[in-house]
Amino acid sequence: MKYVVCVPDGCADEPFEGLGGRTPLEVAHTPTIDALAARGTVGRAGVIPEGMAPGSDVGNMSILGYDPAEFHTGRAPIEAASLGLKLPADRLAYRCNLVTVGDDTTMVDFAGGHPSTDAARAVLEDLDATLGRGNPDSVLEFHAGVEYRHIMVAPADWLDAYCVPPHDLTGRPSVAPTGPAAERLIEVTEASREVLARHPDVAANQIWLWGQGFQPSMPDFAAHHGITGGITTAVDLVRGLGVLTDMALPDVEGATPGYDTDYTAQRDAALAGLADGLDLFVIHVEATDEAGHAGDAAEKVRSLELWDSQILAGLVPELDRTGPWRLLMLPDHATPLARRTHTPDPVPYLLVDSAVDGPGGTYTEAGVADTPVVPGHELLGRLIAPGAA
Ligand SMILES: [Zn+2]
Repeated sequence: MKYVVCVPDGCADEPFEGLGGRTPLEVAHTPTIDALAARGTVGRAGVIPEGMAPGSDVGNMSILGYDPAEFHTGRAPIEAASLGLKLPADRLAYRCNLVTVGDDTTMVDFAGGHPSTDAARAVLEDLDATLGRGNPDSVLEFHAGVEYRHIMVAPADWLDAYCVPPHDLTGRPSVAPTGPAAERLIEVTEASREVLARHPDVAANQIWLWGQGFQPSMPDFAAHHGITGGITTAVDLVRGLGVLTDMALPDVEGATPGYDTDYTAQRDAALAGLADGLDLFVIHVEATDEAGHAGDAAEKVRSLELWDSQILAGLVPELDRTGPWRLLMLPDHATPLARRTHTPDPVPYLLVDSAVDGPGGTYTEAGVADTPVVPGHELLGRLIAPGAA
């Protein structure tokens, strides 16, 4: 038996005026998805547990079959894993954005003008030399990530602070951290302004620390589920989950976190992974989430249509050729076009078994509205062993 999990990030939505009161899943022309839904089972998945922040870290942890309420410890430690950092138990990770803050403390740009990864790397090396490992008085480490997204590693007693994510402050006055560790965070943030001043090629003028936590101790995917798995994704957080659970993470040329990702290359990576002996493969595409944040209905619809024509239309016959298979499709959260941010609402899922027809249904928000909500982290178990759940 082979298993495929399809994750169109943030694809779930709400009726949208710009689409005549319909959702992207309703508007998109998706004959393959429609046919799969007609022979499968559709329902609602609670991918974001009650009270948890609706992010890709939480939602994708659910999809991989790990209960976020048990395993989630923060966003930064997952991103640190994606950089290859496995932290000891007495060290924690902060997300370290390069940001642009106005003289009146307004958060001008949480992405610091989107510096190139190379330019940002020079800044992070300077931060690490001045405020991190190059400074004998410092207990900190700075690690370069991608563009404006980096990691600061700190001792355990730096955990206790409440930090506002910078993207929640856009155009508004900055809010300083609070709590026992806040003073040290403010001190290092202030000191970062002098370092950034030495890098006029970067628009960012300071760091912003948030999303902290210890690295979660997630059991390996194979040990947790009894089958092997791989992922194709261009998103750090999802990659980090794969690193922490020891899943196969092939480099896929052309896979990007934008609208231009190579859908067929991601599909072929899944087929190659399964052909190489993996039992399960996850295809994660970010484009639908990007479109949700941009409020771009046309791109969100187009991404779903590309899922259909460039991934599923070719995937299904190829799976049929190799033997029995099961498929699960669901997003990690909703990113409604009208809200342009994530919501914690349940999302539609689709389960298909090549050998056993389900009751059939329609894979849309309205099509599953009357079904009970299944905890998101239970779906992978249902995919692997339908009878047991
Ligand atoms: Zn998002």
